[in-house]
Amino acid sequence: MRATMKQALVPLALGVVTATTAGSCKLNLTPDTLIKGVQGYMEAKKDLTPENEYFVGRSVGTNILARNNYAYLDKDGWAEGQLKGFTLYVNAVGAVLANAALEVQHSGDRPSPIAGWHFVILDDSLVNAFAAPGGYVFITRGALQLANNEDELAAVLAHEIAHVRRGHALGSIKKSRISSVYKEALSSSVELDQQALGGLAQAFDGAMDDMLDSMLVKGYSRDTEFEADAVGMEIMARAGYNTDAFVAYLDRLQKQQSTGSGGFSATHPKASDRVATLKKIRSKFANNPVVAKRTARFAAARAAAEL
Ligand SMILES: [Zn+2]
Repeated sequence: MRATMKQALVPLALGVVTATTAGSCKLNLTPDTLIKGVQGYMEAKKDLTPENEYFVGRSVGTNILARNNYAYLDKDGWAEGQLKGFTLYVNAVGAVLANAALEVQHSGDRPSPIAGWHFVILDDSLVNAFAAPGGYVFITRGALQLANNEDELAAVLAHEIAHVRRGHALGSIKKSRISSVYKEALSSSVELDQQALGGLAQAFDGAMDDMLDSMLVKGYSRDTEFEADAVGMEIMARAGYNTDAFVAYLDRLQKQQSTGSGGFSATHPKASDRVATLKKIRSKFANNPVVAKRTARFAAARAAAEL
């Protein structure tokens, strides 16, 4: 277990934490990395530097991988520091959208992630996707299988990029958690004793739980999700994609949701509600045509990946 975790953590540059107990994914933080992480979220979105956000994000990302038993695609490529296979393709589409996202500006946006964007494909058949702070986006094999073309994939990724841009995960940290961290950090400005470290570790774990809970279990508020849809649609339009593809993907998801549960069904508003909201706003954005070349390269990349 330990060797597997190390192998998984290093290529993703998420190695701020290491696992110490075989069979357990409990995080063990060193004083140095702990302080950096705490600095990262102690003021939530306010005054949070891009560096802080990066440290928080990779800790959250590590946790997401751990919860998925480190099952993700194209591991060899990540281990060699190279994007390969379908992961390479998804990262190329993600990079185009992330660039477009910089041109879509709203008050309170987080700055561009300092370590760039990482798009990881989780080996999970549930239709799901989520994003940690700092530009770590996760999409499941199931969500990719549900997409019919590149424009639909772009819709899912753009929604996740919007969550990062708007700082939604950071915003889900409970206020009470932040004040307790303040107290610990202020009382330990010179050297942290064992007790202070314990307090910080507890607060850090708590903030992590808040974010993971919102992302993976409870979901964000409906308004937060509708905002990610609206900003996501704006981003995909700016990148030259067809916004109808967003609606088409959600329509298909709706059909699937009537028979299944978990994934997006558990953490997002009903797909039909999202479609209704998107239909009201889509005339605000350019509706670019679906380009045959894009659809062909999506089909080729997915066939090669044998998803
Ligand atoms: Zn969402």
